[in-house]
Amino acid sequence: MQPNAGTAHAPVPQTSFERNAHALLEELRQRNARRVLLQAPEGLRTSVIALASLLGQSGISTVISCDATYGACDLADKEAQAMQCDLLVHIGHSKFYRDFGTAVPVLYFPWNMRASLDGADFSSIHEEHIGIVTTVQHTDLLSEVRDLLVKAGKKPFFAGNILGCYTLPAQKIESNVDAFLFVGSGKFHPLGMRGKPVYTFDLETKAVEKLDTALFEKRRFAAIYKAKDAKTFGIIVSTKEGQRELLGAAERVRQQLEEKDKKAYVLIMDEVTSAKLEGLKVDAFVNTACPRIMDDHFAKPLINAEDIEYL
Ligand code: SF4
Repeated sequence: MQPNAGTAHAPVPQTSFERNAHALLEELRQRNARRVLLQAPEGLRTSVIALASLLGQSGISTVISCDATYGACDLADKEAQAMQCDLLVHIGHSKFYRDFGTAVPVLYFPWNMRASLDGADFSSIHEEHIGIVTTVQHTDLLSEVRDLLVKAGKKPFFAGNILGCYTLPAQKIESNVDAFLFVGSGKFHPLGMRGKPVYTFDLETKAVEKLDTALFEKRRFAAIYKAKDAKTFGIIVSTKEGQRELLGAAERVRQQLEEKDKKAYVLIMDEVTSAKLEGLKVDAFVNTACPRIMDDHFAKPLINAEDIEYL
């Protein structure tokens, strides 16, 4: 790519915000974007006003989405269309593994996060062969994490980026490793991992902890056990394009439940919360949307569609 003559004397971006914001601005200039909708996950929300200001100074008009977004499964493309934006800038995630059409073109902008690894202590990991998994925002840190693991006497392997609903990169190297290390923040992403012990390395606190995957399995089977007695089910379908019937087709689920002498009703909603399901006279729910929904608290048993074989 030719250097941009217009930015030859611009100050060199220093902070993480400046690096990402200027890279995004450059990308938008190349696309001749005039008006964009900015959509960012909660962790990046504090940066969007400064980002909109920077883009505005360069002649790019912005609209900011204030609804929650948990992944690239959940795009504000219809809002972008309604607000006459020519592009949706979806920050913090890469393109979803499942294809679906969008109302306006989408630019997926990962927003690479730098973090100091000073103070990282991997001594609580007893296994030797370690598969490293992360999210798209932290891929730049993986070489440093690998070097630290080598110093700690481990044999690390790169697996790749995972999502709370997508762990294929980890599954591909599972037979070569004794445990996995998730580099990032929170437990949402590694919760979908099964089979081998999983440690989390929190980049904010630098804490290395073993994830209690057994606890989540116990909760999963407790919900299945309770749902066995249910006579009437609500089948949850999400309006989010990427999550719509992600775990199974609602009509197929209805048929399977009816074959088990259960009554079933298909429910449609955007965000799935216990409050929205209150008052419905059903005994339990089957979720066809994001598999991590079942980690939230629900007043009635809620199981994922892939688990109805256990009923
Ligand atoms: S885990 Fe859920 S919110 Fe995250 S990308 Fe998958 S479907 Fe979307």
